[in-house]
Amino acid sequence: MNTTMMQVPLSLNHLLERAGKIFHGNEIVSRLPDKSLRRHSYADYYRRTRALAAALLGLGLKKGERVATLCWNHHAHLEAYFGIPAAGGVMHTLNLRLAPEEIGWIAADAEDRFLLIDDVLLPLYEKFAHLHQFDQVIVFPFSGAPVPAGFANYEALLAAADPDAFDYVPHDENDPVSMCYTSGTTGKPKGVVYSHRSTVLHSLVAALADYTAVRNADVVLPVTPMFHANSWGMPYIAVMQGAKLVFPGPHLHPDDLLDLMTQEPPTLALGVPTIWLSLIQTYDASLKVGTPNHGRWKLPPGLRSMVGGAAVPESLIRAFAKHGVWIMQGWGMTETSPVGTLSYPRAKLQGASENERFRRAATAGTPVPLVELRTRGEDGQDQAWDGHSVGELQVRGPFITGSYHQAGSPEDKFTADGWLRTGDVASVDAIGFVKISDRTKDLIKSGGEWISSVDLENALMAHPAVAEAAVIAIPDEKWSERPLACVAFKPGQSATPEELNALLLTKHFAKWQLPERYEVIDAVPRTSTGKFYKLKLREQFRA
Ligand code: ADP
Repeated sequence: MNTTMMQVPLSLNHLLERAGKIFHGNEIVSRLPDKSLRRHSYADYYRRTRALAAALLGLGLKKGERVATLCWNHHAHLEAYFGIPAAGGVMHTLNLRLAPEEIGWIAADAEDRFLLIDDVLLPLYEKFAHLHQFDQVIVFPFSGAPVPAGFANYEALLAAADPDAFDYVPHDENDPVSMCYTSGTTGKPKGVVYSHRSTVLHSLVAALADYTAVRNADVVLPVTPMFHANSWGMPYIAVMQGAKLVFPGPHLHPDDLLDLMTQEPPTLALGVPTIWLSLIQTYDASLKVGTPNHGRWKLPPGLRSMVGGAAVPESLIRAFAKHGVWIMQGWGMTETSPVGTLSYPRAKLQGASENERFRRAATAGTPVPLVELRTRGEDGQDQAWDGHSVGELQVRGPFITGSYHQAGSPEDKFTADGWLRTGDVASVDAIGFVKISDRTKDLIKSGGEWISSVDLENALMAHPAVAEAAVIAIPDEKWSERPLACVAFKPGQSATPEELNALLLTKHFAKWQLPERYEVIDAVPRTSTGKFYKLKLREQFRA
């Protein structure tokens, strides 16, 4: 028997068409370099995106060719998200926080043909231009300054193109739409290539009510960069739902984000824990009468927030909850599109105590539909879902990559039976809650027993004087490794190692799990995606 269903390909073009037809009045707001706000309607967005696609075809873009972007979060980047695939191209988001040499290497590895770049980032381009020759560099006049000679002007290209005459380039649902490189925290960056099909399925799943629950009436603030794992898929999800978007542009300082939240109150905001940590510390400090920013900001009541990309400390979730802001934690990777698991209120936990609810919220949550998950022990056996047994987290699904661009499917990244080896160590409990204890490379093995650096960090960050904490392994003759805690205190505050250890003992750590040593630092170094950069600390404190 055959199915009677139509074989219509899943397609981003459908989402764009739909948005242009039915959400035309909805708004897209971008913060410009001078901090003013530019407003577009979805009708403008639709016409400009089709004009971009027409312009790229005019420049000779062929199906499957890469168009790189080096941009902040703003409307033109959103136009690229849909306009490049509409023309049959593959959008390749370059990470502007990487070293110029790395950006050049990645652009060459991806064989990018065109580059779309913010004018304010041209000084960065000059530093890697010698490493890869683009056919054409298209400059988006983000700051409003004239585009220098020798570059194409994005606005002029759009103005000269005819969006009405544009026709989508025919495609299959498995054709590529975009690519992103892993940020290389634990090795050389590797390219992940997403398809129409994987992107549409990921958007549908992540938009479900238990997860991001993006509705048409939402106002979404994606602080997560659009060059990092597709800003967690939010640009696609928001256009699919026609939600209002507020883009922060290059202004990611906590003061700026709080200004923007006060001016254009979001109902949903996304970011990594490090940014959210400084956001809430700045906000809480402003509540004290007599401080310079007292009364300047208002956290939008009822704001939902998705935070992930690194472990979210329970103390951070509690700090936001005090202001009525509920944080949903997500786990994912560039390789997983990226949403793999999310923490959300489960019916089974409805009668649970407040402590239990916060404890669950501080886990990575449960796998979303279409994502299969298993934990494998060092012996290669599946670990029991008992909430204690840890193993390497492995995942499989239609929006999880099965190989890398150019690099294929190396054994350390994929199992012989086709699962992605995440490099994360986790336990899973009986109702599917995943607890990430570490990255394989960050685990501390002391006297044959594992110590979770993530657990120690989260407990330390619950101390009122601690702004940030990162725990790393240091070599030890007797125990092979011991934990070293690097702690940054809030301005004007401090605590002794004895006080910090006393706190850890109340959090059920055993004596042998306590840090061997404490080091006071100004701040934890960050990776290009804003996460704690423990490799740097290991280099610094190895001796
Ligand atoms: P990078 O590996 O360079 O950081 P990704 O952005 O793809 O690049 O990061 C994926 C990794 O981030 C995961 O493998 C995991 O180690 C970490 N991660 C993501 N979300 C969480 C989370 N909620 N809790 C703990 N770790 C997380």
